[in-house]
Amino acid sequence: MNIILLGPPGAGKGTQAHHLVATRGMIQLSTGDMLREAKSSGSEMGQRVAEVMARGDLVTDEIVIGLIREKLEGDKGGGFIFDGFPRTLAQADALGQLLADCGETLDAVIEMKVDDEALVGRITARSTCSGCGAVYNDVTKPIPADGVCSNCGQKTEFTRRADDNEDALRNRLMEYYKKTSPLIGYYYAKNMLRSVNGLGTIDGVQASIAKVLDA
Ligand code: AMP
Repeated sequence: MNIILLGPPGAGKGTQAHHLVATRGMIQLSTGDMLREAKSSGSEMGQRVAEVMARGDLVTDEIVIGLIREKLEGDKGGGFIFDGFPRTLAQADALGQLLADCGETLDAVIEMKVDDEALVGRITARSTCSGCGAVYNDVTKPIPADGVCSNCGQKTEFTRRADDNEDALRNRLMEYYKKTSPLIGYYYAKNMLRSVNGLGTIDGVQASIAKVLDA
């Protein structure tokens, strides 16, 4: 089963993707994570995208489609979770073609609905385990006092993303509404869109997504 998690920054896509990886053996394909990896590895492409990402703009379709193409050639596990991809109509068309080329289908697009006011609060309170990428929140899921990640069990560092500040977030939201939100209509018209309330507890949202996947 291959699915897209669709929603604005801070909707909880990464948190829910991690849960699906752990419980269903699915493979998370987060273009944001891939780009951050490229940036920290210091590759030529990583250096090119660093400023774009820091501003909260979208990187080019060509780059992210290339990253996804490479991953689709590898292990398919229990299916792919596309997290933060596609973000434009051109990326959505390309994904359809790439999946068709490797004999795969897209089974559901899960839209995580959240209110904009909640996003700013969530994002500015967010930190990530540098070992496994598990997401923490100062208010709803604080970093464990012993510094051991409850997901991977390692004593690691918890870092804040460079673009998790209010200015970059406003821009990321603007990019979402201008370029990504049309995908809601696109997948609705393809009869693939399933919407869940992303504002509940983490467990509550997990249950709503499970209901969609098991339907
Ligand atoms: P994310 O971790 O999904 O919030 O992505 C972080 C940043 O990476 C975004 O603000 C964009 O600059 C870039 N990015 C991630 N995925 C894409 C994509 N599919 N298309 C364009 N830019 C992306």
